[in-house]
Amino acid sequence: MTRENFRCRCCGECCRIKDGIVRVSHAEVKRIASFLGMSESDFIERETELAPDRKSLMLKSRPDGSCAYLTADNLCRINQVKPDKCRTFPFEWTNPDSATVCPALATP
Ligand code: SF4
Ligand code: SF4
Repeated sequence: MTRENFRCRCCGECCRIKDGIVRVSHAEVKRIASFLGMSESDFIERETELAPDRKSLMLKSRPDGSCAYLTADNLCRINQVKPDKCRTFPFEWTNPDSATVCPALATP
């Protein structure tokens, strides 16, 4: 899949995967915190949590599993600075079940 031939349907399904994990590096923490006008420490405290494997921070999700930055109209509130994991899906990585989540992968 390449950026040129992929047609995102802007459905937001990839941002509401139950138990999905969006890890954030220190560089990503810095850029997202700056975008939101927050200090790094406030951002880490309020907007992230420890990943289940305790190896990194990840963005918080809502109780329904959706990302805290997903808007009601399926947009990303931090699109300009979103983590690389979000930026590179599904061009640089997918999971075995990604086509069951992403309709544009199921029927390109
Ligand atoms: S940061 Fe944006 S693109 Fe990434 S999961 Fe959250 S809403 Fe989706
Ligand atoms: S699930 Fe696929 S089509 Fe829907 S927003 Fe994500 S990348 Fe786009």
